[in-house]
Amino acid sequence: MSPAKRHEMFARLRAANPNPTTELAWSSPFELLVAVILSAQMTDKGVNAATAKLFPVANTPQAIAALGLDGLLPYLRTINFCNTKAANVLATCTALLERHGGEVPRDREALESLPGVGRKTANVVLNTVFREPAMAVDTHIFRVANRTGLAPGEDVREVEDRLLKVVPAEFLLDAHHWLILHGRYVCKARTPECWRCEIRDLCAYRPKTPDPAATVPPPRAKAVAKKQASRVRTVAKVVRSRAGAPARRRKEQA
Ligand code: SF4
Repeated sequence: MSPAKRHEMFARLRAANPNPTTELAWSSPFELLVAVILSAQMTDKGVNAATAKLFPVANTPQAIAALGLDGLLPYLRTINFCNTKAANVLATCTALLERHGGEVPRDREALESLPGVGRKTANVVLNTVFREPAMAVDTHIFRVANRTGLAPGEDVREVEDRLLKVVPAEFLLDAHHWLILHGRYVCKARTPECWRCEIRDLCAYRPKTPDPAATVPPPRAKAVAKKQASRVRTVAKVVRSRAGAPARRRKEQA
């Protein structure tokens, strides 16, 4: 994708959504950190349902550490891999209290040393909380970057590095959210909704998905087509039967 197209792509995404942000619910860096730890292989909606009950009761490292595993697990029962994630959240609380005065560090290395925190989680926190130009490449961003030709790559790290290189500076802080939201709601995994995509003329993906409303015949057209097909079959039957009549007659006379 050319630099001019890349600029146009983000200009359109920005025009459609000037203030993009995460769909995870959070009101402090610690809440976001916990929500992102819980979000692996979970929808944001599922995480929000759990944290809506947990955070009013405990939303600091001290408070969650005080709950302990038995106190924390009931809030996370609906979360995938809840036992592992609960253990990671508790260990992260302990690490934050022991090493960072109970605060979420603004440092990649320190973040990635926390239990349950990998590069992607660190990138989300650095970008969303601290507004660093970090690119958390999840499955949506990976797909959009490859399909559109924006930043193709074999793995998430390659796509992350390429995005950081090619996204125009003025869009870098919010690019992560625009790409996630575009992948989640328009450029969907199974069927990208190209017919209503605001960047379709800039995107390299071929063939574009056509508008289903324009390709599926309306019910009346379907009924008419069925009737016509039945009529054709009947006529063909009559023709076949007439064609065989002289031969049958000759056979009878013989
Ligand atoms: S045109 Fe289709 S493939 Fe390209 S970004 Fe839009 S939805 Fe995705």
